[in-house]
Amino acid sequence: MKRLTLGLLFAVLCDGETLRIRLYDLVHMSAGTLDHLTDTAGRVLAEAGVNVIWEKGAATSPEGHLTVWTPGHTPDTRGYLVARLLIGPPGDFSENELGYALPFVSEGAHVTVYYDRVEKVFFATKGMPSIGSMLGAAMAHEIGHALTGSADHSPEGIMKGNWGVAEFRLLSCKRFHFTAENAAALRAAVAERFATGRTGTVLATCPSLERFNSASIKGFRNCN
Ligand SMILES: [Zn+2]
Repeated sequence: MKRLTLGLLFAVLCDGETLRIRLYDLVHMSAGTLDHLTDTAGRVLAEAGVNVIWEKGAATSPEGHLTVWTPGHTPDTRGYLVARLLIGPPGDFSENELGYALPFVSEGAHVTVYYDRVEKVFFATKGMPSIGSMLGAAMAHEIGHALTGSADHSPEGIMKGNWGVAEFRLLSCKRFHFTAENAAALRAAVAERFATGRTGTVLATCPSLERFNSASIKGFRNCN
């Protein structure tokens, strides 16, 4: 708690934090989609005061394939966050959940986003916003859980637990942000986490989706 308080103070005194994210694309997306993903996730995190340095993980590296659900016996000293894109396993999770976070694993991925589930939503929204930006927003949400070590959701913003038409409209208008409170917690977590290592496990699955039909997205691009 004392450490977190110091982290918050540190974040207030600094312009922002820098976070390295090693990204494993295990579904082999197009370069354009990958760019949209990193642009979107990087932008919303930068707006929260966390500047991302993206690293591309080799698809053959064991780190991108490990599914470790328990905390490591040693602290996570890697100094970077691991994110990956996968095809969702049938039956393991609700089909409405786009990914999950394992904040305290010391090997394998902290953040997983299911490409096929985001793609299904993308088609339901008739392509607005782009699939890359939807993947980026889902990844930013899970990164939020992974950094803070919390499964909590916010009533507004990108850490909202359920996304629907309103959230996708905000995303397509580049107005889907972390709240100020979320942003402060993220900056503090980055400052603290990569200096100390942590133990314990919190699992967060989400974000889940409100059901809607494509007829309800009329006027989707009206950003006024
Ligand atoms: Zn969530």
